[in-house]
Amino acid sequence: MALRLREIALQLDEKEELIPVKIAAILAFDVKKIASWKIVRKGIDARRKPDVLRVYTVDFCCVDEVELLETNNHVTTLSEVKNKTLLELHSLESKPKILVVGMGPAGLFSALTLAEAGAQVSLIERGRPVAERIQDVNDFWAGGKLNGESNIQFGEGGAGTFSDGKLTSRLTHPAIRYILQRLVDFGAPEEILWQAKPHIGSDRLRQVLVNFRKYLISLGVNIKFSSCFTGFEMFNQNISAGIINDSEWIECEQLILAVGHSARDTYRLLADNKVKLEQKPFAIGLRVEHPLELINQIQYGMKNHPQLPSADYRLAWNDAETQRGIYSFCMCPGGMVVNASSEAECLVVNGMSDYHRDASRSNSALVVSVNTEDFSATDVLAGIRFQQKWEHAAYLAGEASWRAPAQPLLEFLEGRGGNLDSSCQPHVVHADLDICLPSFVVSSLRQALPVFNRRMRGFVGPEATLIGVETRTSAPVRIVRDQHGESLSHKGLFPTGEGAGYAGGIMSAAIDGINAATTIIKTNCG
Ligand SMILES: Cc1cc2nc3c(=O)[nH]c(=O)nc-3n(C[C@H](O)[C@H](O)[C@H](O)COP(=O)(O)OP(=O)(O)OC[C@H]3O[C@@H](n4cnc5c(N)ncnc54)[C@H](O)[C@@H]3O)c2cc1C
Repeated sequence: MALRLREIALQLDEKEELIPVKIAAILAFDVKKIASWKIVRKGIDARRKPDVLRVYTVDFCCVDEVELLETNNHVTTLSEVKNKTLLELHSLESKPKILVVGMGPAGLFSALTLAEAGAQVSLIERGRPVAERIQDVNDFWAGGKLNGESNIQFGEGGAGTFSDGKLTSRLTHPAIRYILQRLVDFGAPEEILWQAKPHIGSDRLRQVLVNFRKYLISLGVNIKFSSCFTGFEMFNQNISAGIINDSEWIECEQLILAVGHSARDTYRLLADNKVKLEQKPFAIGLRVEHPLELINQIQYGMKNHPQLPSADYRLAWNDAETQRGIYSFCMCPGGMVVNASSEAECLVVNGMSDYHRDASRSNSALVVSVNTEDFSATDVLAGIRFQQKWEHAAYLAGEASWRAPAQPLLEFLEGRGGNLDSSCQPHVVHADLDICLPSFVVSSLRQALPVFNRRMRGFVGPEATLIGVETRTSAPVRIVRDQHGESLSHKGLFPTGEGAGYAGGIMSAAIDGINAATTIIKTNCG
C-alpha cells in the first residue's frame, strides 16, 4: 500500500527535498519513517501574490501506514493510494481491415489502439511527414508560397504539431492518464504525468511524433503520406473502401474519419455523398499579445522567478444583453503568434510555444461565440463560408501578403496610441481590425476588454497588440453520429476528433480516437 497527501505547499525558495519533512510535520510523525516518495501533481497557488506557493500532491510509502491513516483520520487531504488500471483495452481474434484518415491526435490514438488490439490498420494523411512539414511551414513564413497540403493544419501530427502542446482538458476520463503515459513512452517529458497543467511544447512534440510513427510501423500499420481521402465506396449498406487521391482504393470494414476542422474539401465531399451533417456554432475573434514579463507581473506579482513557469491566464465574460460568451482561448505563455493558414487567400492566426516557454511575449485568442443564425444561411456548409469570408477579409487587410493585420490594443479600444509589437510569423501589417470581423464580434470584444482589465490590471495597456483573425476555434460543421460514434447515415463510418464536431483540443481529440477504436474492437468481437 502507499499513502497520498495533497496540498503540500512549498515557498518559492524551498527545495523539493523538503517535501518529506513537510509530510512528517503535517501528519505529526518521524520523517525517518518515510521509505520513498514521489510527486504525482504539482501546481501553483498565486492567490496571495507576490507570496506565490508551489502546491504538491505526493505518494509515499512508510512504516505503520495503517496506523498513520488511523491517527490522521481528521486530515482530509490524506488518503490511501488506489492502484487503477490505466485503461482496459480489448484484443481482437479476427484481423479486421480498418482505414484511419488523418494523423492528428484522434487518428494517431485510434490507429494505436486498433493496431495493438490486432487489427490491420491503414493510416493515411494528406500532408507530409513532420520534418518535411516543418520545412514547408518555414518556407511559407519566410515569404514562400502556402502549401495547401502541408501547413500548420495539415501534415503528420495534425493541427497540434505547431502548438503550445497544452495537454489540459476539461474532461475527466480514464484515458487521460493513459494518453499522457503513451506520450511519455514516445519521448515526452515525464513531468507531464504530474503537472497540473501539462504541456509538451512544439519542439519536443515533433520528436514524440516521429517515435509514435516508428512504433505504429513496427506494429504493422500501413502509413501513407501525401494521401488525401477523396471518396469512399459502400457495399451492402456498409462502408467498404476509402479512395485516395482519386486513384487508389483501400478496402476496409470500418473507416475512422479524423480529418480535423480545416478539411473543408472533405466536408464538401461528405455533403455531396449525403453523409448526415449539421451546422455547428463556434467562436471567432483576435489574438492578443503582451510582453511575457507583464503577464507574469499581473499573475504572480513579479516579472520572473526561476521556480515559476511563464504565467498563463483564462478570462471569460458573458454579455447578458447579447447572450454571447467572450473568452480567452489557447493561451501560449512565452510563445509566438503564427500564421496558421491552409487555404488560398484565407488568413488565420493561432499561437504556439516551445517546451521552455521562454520567448519574450505571451499570447492568447480572445474570441466571441458565433451562433448558427449568424451564418445567415441554412445549408450545412454555411459556417465554412462564414469563416472564409472573414479569413479573406484578414488576408486583404494584410495587403494580400500573408502578413497578419494587427493593431495596438489601445487603438482598437479607444482610438489612441500604443505599440505594434508582435512575434507573428511572417510579420504583421498595421490595419483597422474592424474590417476583419463581423460588427457584433468587434463590439463584444470592445465590451469585454475593460472587464478583463478589471480582472487582470494592466491587460489593457500600450504594450498589448491585437492580431487577426482567429476563426478555427472548433469545427464549423458536425458530422452527426449515434451514441456509439458511428455516422447516423453511413454504417461503418466513424467521424472522430475535432473535425467531427464532438471534440476540441489535443487530449479530447485523442480520447475520441480511442473511443472510436474501442467501439470498433467491441463490434468486431461480436
Ligand atoms: C497552432 C495551433 C496551436 C494549438 N495549440 C493547442 C494546444 O496547445 N493544446 C490543445 O489541446 N490544442 C491545441 N490546438 C488544437 C489541437 O491541435 C486540435 O484540437 C487537435 O489537433 C485536433 O485533433 P484531430 O486529430 O481531431 O484533428 P487534427 O489535429 O486537425 O488532424 C487532422 C489530420 O487530418 C488530415 N486530413 C485532413 N483532411 C484529410 C483528408 N481528406 N485525407 C487525409 N488526411 C486528411 C490533416 O492533414 C491533419 O493532419 C492547436 C491548434 C493549432 C492550429
